[in-house]
Amino acid sequence: MKVDAAAATDVGLVRDHNEDSYILDTPLYVVADGMGGHLGGEVASSIAIETVRERFKEAGAEAVPDAVREANDAILERGQVDAEVTGMGTTFTSAVLTATTLNIAHVGDSRAYLLRDGELRLLTDDHTLVGEMVREGSLTEDQARVHPRRSILVRALGIEPNIEVDRLALPVRDGDRVLLCSDGLNSMITDAAIAEILAGEGIPAEACQRLIGAARDAGGTDNITVIVMGFTAEPTDVIDSNAEATVPSAEASGLIDRLLRRKP
Ligand code: MN
Repeated sequence: MKVDAAAATDVGLVRDHNEDSYILDTPLYVVADGMGGHLGGEVASSIAIETVRERFKEAGAEAVPDAVREANDAILERGQVDAEVTGMGTTFTSAVLTATTLNIAHVGDSRAYLLRDGELRLLTDDHTLVGEMVREGSLTEDQARVHPRRSILVRALGIEPNIEVDRLALPVRDGDRVLLCSDGLNSMITDAAIAEILAGEGIPAEACQRLIGAARDAGGTDNITVIVMGFTAEPTDVIDSNAEATVPSAEASGLIDRLLRRKP
């Protein structure tokens, strides 16, 4: 699977610094939204990002959930010894592409969305009080977006020693688009507005700029971070899936022969 990915981050119109961090380093993509006033938020989200970047380099996709737990410990420890950052925390949402599967790991209220065949699907649960109320059916998504207590997290890095990391393996298809974002996007604009921009013409880099622009136009009260991935099947995938159904071209049959010959 080929991927074209882009990212953008913006301080917004109200905050004076940006506590979000991200990684765009194909095949690793991460959004982390730090919190904890003053320096805390930036420190927490960068500890999360740097820990995962290192562990991923050493051991690949499988290492990510453990790296999240390791980052959680590091944030808690640092908060205990450094009064300037006591009480800091961060969300964490990552995606790693392995062949044709996107491996998602998630804690907090940043989000992963899938746009497939024009339809937008939220892939992650918000680990917030209002998120729980939406899943129980006692609040609508629209009520949650403007709820005064919408930012209260029930799960994030830096809160408790034992952290549960949500995981999802998503087989991606030709034409899929995946968005990772901090809540500065989805608290400002509706899912319908997000879907319209993602489905629009243009490469992922343009979609990123349009998403940031829409969140700013809607008030930009929080930092905004977005990563957009666009997936395209590679020609070898097509040969694989059609090998039995069609007569292969000379070139394709050559490739299949070489693949068969490699078998023991
Ligand atoms: Mn935020």
